[in-house]
Amino acid sequence: MILEQQRKEIVEIGRQIYKDKLVPLTFGNFSIRDHETDYVCITPSGMPYETLTPEDVVVVNLDGEIIDGIRKPSIETGLHCAVYKKRPDVASVVHTHSTFVTAWAACRKEIPSVVAEVAALVSGTIKCAPYRRCGSKELAEVTSEALGTDDAVLMGNHGVLVVGPTIQAAYTNAVIVEEGAKVAFYANTIGGVHLLNADECQQEREAAIKGYGQ
Ligand SMILES: [Zn+2]
Repeated sequence: MILEQQRKEIVEIGRQIYKDKLVPLTFGNFSIRDHETDYVCITPSGMPYETLTPEDVVVVNLDGEIIDGIRKPSIETGLHCAVYKKRPDVASVVHTHSTFVTAWAACRKEIPSVVAEVAALVSGTIKCAPYRRCGSKELAEVTSEALGTDDAVLMGNHGVLVVGPTIQAAYTNAVIVEEGAKVAFYANTIGGVHLLNADECQQEREAAIKGYGQ
């Protein structure tokens, strides 16, 4: 089996994300790009995370063509590939439908940076890409476009897409974004929220970019 280590990591993160309730049922999809071959290991379509094995993970090239695997790849394979093509720095893409980010996405509202951890991931706010049909080429286009150089973007009436230099980082970012969405919701409910200003957001983002890795 090729890229066995990456396939194992996807299975582990899938279980973790399911346990964390960041995805209901079989929703969401996760991938790792191998920089050496430029192949992408991605979750299969519609399989439960609890019983997933490395053999179920599908290996595709950047055009989404199957290189290895016995399953049908995620319907959002084109979306993952579009992000990898635009972002050479990204080695993992995590797409979830976690509750609070999806609520903001349903309102098609950008999430303001009310906590430093979120400001470190995006330039100012978590942007919201327009709604397009699940699994469509158009969804891949508008979402990868709206992501730009950020590490997270909402998908209108759908969910969120988060990236990172490793799958562990992308998973952590997915947790941060969901927590940030929850805090922004509660802070707005309490009223009188103080947003981080543009300078503060920029400093957090720059520090995070410099701080990647060891
Ligand atoms: Zn989705």
